[in-house]
Amino acid sequence: MGTEVVRSEEQSEQAGPELSIVIPIYNEEENIPPLLGAISRVMQEVGLSYEVICVDDGSTDKSYAVLREMADHYPGLVLIRFQENAGQTAALDAGFKAARGRIIVTMDADLQNDPADIPVLLEALQEYDMVCGWRYQRQDPWIKLVSARIANAVRNWITQEQIRDTGCSLKAYRRECLASLKLFTGMHRFLPTLVKMEGFRVTEVKVRHHPRRHGKSKYNIRNRLVSSFLDCLAVAWMQKRALRYKIVE
Ligand code: UDP
Ligand code: MG
Repeated sequence: MGTEVVRSEEQSEQAGPELSIVIPIYNEEENIPPLLGAISRVMQEVGLSYEVICVDDGSTDKSYAVLREMADHYPGLVLIRFQENAGQTAALDAGFKAARGRIIVTMDADLQNDPADIPVLLEALQEYDMVCGWRYQRQDPWIKLVSARIANAVRNWITQEQIRDTGCSLKAYRRECLASLKLFTGMHRFLPTLVKMEGFRVTEVKVRHHPRRHGKSKYNIRNRLVSSFLDCLAVAWMQKRALRYKIVE
């Protein structure tokens, strides 16, 4: 898969920032400028040094042109561009690998997640290694709400979990959590379980959620049902077959 990482000379020379925000982007041209504006406002309050890693997952609209334009206004913007669409997990993986912060925050590009919740995640990260957003008042069409409810119940049942909203992209990690993860397509829905399997402490906090105003959702029941069920079985298999041993001598 061809990728292109665009980091300015100045960025490459500087020591890494404290926090990296990773955002997968697939055809979100109208959402990018307000998203970056909102992040910059919140991060001014947070007061940590940061970078925003936008991963263009093979967009066919003007997303990448918009990102290039934005890079002139936001010095902390790092751009990665895929040759073609490779999926949300692949985009996250590339972002994780490029991230230099000791804390990594992920979110969607469509402004359904609210950057204003970043401080809440960071607060919980003081006690935990990974914090997952829980969209307790999710703003999506009813068909999506119903299917997500069923999917979460099935996932929790099969993987013996109690995660309310694993599909929420707004999450924060200490970088150690991600160091040894080997991701596969579709695994972005199982990140809390995968991180727990590595022995880390994971929690959930309530976050806001907004209706999508621009662009379209990339997922529907048809393109999710079978594959995410199979992914679930794969994760259950991994849990069952994880190596467990204690050396006595
Ligand atoms: N996305 C991506 N590659 C894909 C599908 C989605 O990078 O193949 C991005 C998308 O642009 C958005 C996020 O992943 O930033 C979540 O997608 P979407 O909002 O469509 O999901 P939904 O909120 O409808 O579940
Ligand atoms: Mg969305």
